Amino acid sequence: MKTITKHYIDGAFVESHGREVIESINPSNGKVIGKTLLGDEEDAKFAIAAAKQALISFAHTTKEERASMLHRLHEVVAARIDDLIAVMIEEYGGTAQFSEIIVRSAAESFLQAEKALQQLPLVRTWDKTTVFYEPVGVAGLITAWNANALFISVKLASAIAAGCTVVIKPSEMSSLQTQVLLECLHEARLPSGVFNVVIGRGDVVGAELVRNPDVAKISFTGSAAVGEKIMRDGAATMKRVTLELGGKSPNILLDDVELDKAIPTALGIAFMNSGQACAAGTRLLVPKSRLDDVKKAILGAMPAFAVGDPANRKTTVGPMVSKKQYEQVQAYIRTGISEGADVLVGGEGHPQGFEAGYFVKPTVFVNVTNDMTIAQEEIFGPVLCVITYESEEDAVRIANDSRYGLHGFVSGADLQRARRVASQIIAGRVVINGMRDDQQAPWGGFKHSGVGREFGTFGIEAFLESRAILE
Ligand code: NAD
Repeated sequence: MKTITKHYIDGAFVESHGREVIESINPSNGKVIGKTLLGDEEDAKFAIAAAKQALISFAHTTKEERASMLHRLHEVVAARIDDLIAVMIEEYGGTAQFSEIIVRSAAESFLQAEKALQQLPLVRTWDKTTVFYEPVGVAGLITAWNANALFISVKLASAIAAGCTVVIKPSEMSSLQTQVLLECLHEARLPSGVFNVVIGRGDVVGAELVRNPDVAKISFTGSAAVGEKIMRDGAATMKRVTLELGGKSPNILLDDVELDKAIPTALGIAFMNSGQACAAGTRLLVPKSRLDDVKKAILGAMPAFAVGDPANRKTTVGPMVSKKQYEQVQAYIRTGISEGADVLVGGEGHPQGFEAGYFVKPTVFVNVTNDMTIAQEEIFGPVLCVITYESEEDAVRIANDSRYGLHGFVSGADLQRARRVASQIIAGRVVINGMRDDQQAPWGGFKHSGVGREFGTFGIEAFLESRAILE
């Protein structure tokens, strides 16, 4: 049992003023593995004051100084990759395969920000005009639970590159993971107050960051509902916002696709992070003429996506993060059935042999129409909807008939055609023939998937304001 009673403020671990206790539960077996004292508004204000004070000198550091800090941050996170993976598996039920990808990307994000910073001009001149790109001010970083180390690292790296000081409010469901990450970050010996971390509830610590006039910017990763609230509440102090929200991403299989390859890939894209991924391709759009072949290929490929112990390196689907998330997925499966979709694989209840913990059956629905609840709402579990289309235009229409626009996928043998279709999908990112990441490419969404972009120069620009001096 681990106990956490301290936040990280002004370069030191300090006792929490807030006294509310939250338990951490291992989702693989439902056992309590930790207790954390949650911060309150006072802790948040204390952290904001430290960040405000540190900003006075940090805003004037040189690019080279910040690049060297980013390098150190990379080294200290990379040094504890195994510990970060272990705690992600234990606290969150992330599979070993996926946790490794996330933690390595977290360490890498500091190097990527360093590279982007070198490429980004912070002064531009023409005629007698000079434009300076300045840090926006103190930033509040509020993150979701489903890839804790990565979200914190990506946001922190961009903010540091820009010269902003920060107060981080990680998801209260990630306190054990945050503790290990914090131990790493502390080792980088950044100037006191440059980054501060308060673990607490969203409606307490998060809300204080959103309303506090000393916080200039909120960079948020989480649900669309909370994102909307942050935008509304932040307007009172004219907060700059970056909002990384949910998705219901389409995956279009064109009619010349090789199903033997495309179906296992599509299932991997739908069930990544046990389906608890904003970018998951949860609507599989297939040509009507090939539906029978698609069903056969799915049935053949599903054994590779059986649930298992997340610590086992072969496991591709682990438990849901919490009982609440388990119940949410069950409710959506029932809704799908009641609205007339057919369960091809999976369905309600626990998989056999996994009754303890929050495991669900990876589920594929067929006979889904795009207006059904399961095709429109983000389920955040391993549930895939197969939807048929009549023509290329029809596929694009269905893909874009969504309140979300985070990610999209297109697969087909004819690359020119796949590119043409990809360019019509309204989403911040579209990947052709598989799943790939590029930490220099912008990340973010259209419509209810958010506002603004992260990663690379795009992520740093989100923490900058311009000032023009004219002679
Ligand atoms: P959530 O919105 O419930 O919580 C996210 C964070 O917001 C938490 O730290 C929470 O404490 C905080 N919060 C809650 N209420 C708040 C308030 N009133 N003011 C300020 N902060 C508040 O989301 P979640 O359940 O942690 O994460 C899952 C969601 O995140 C999904 O919708 C998923 O798609 C989305 N997500 C998006 C991305 C992306 O990059 N676009 C990545 C991962 C997750």
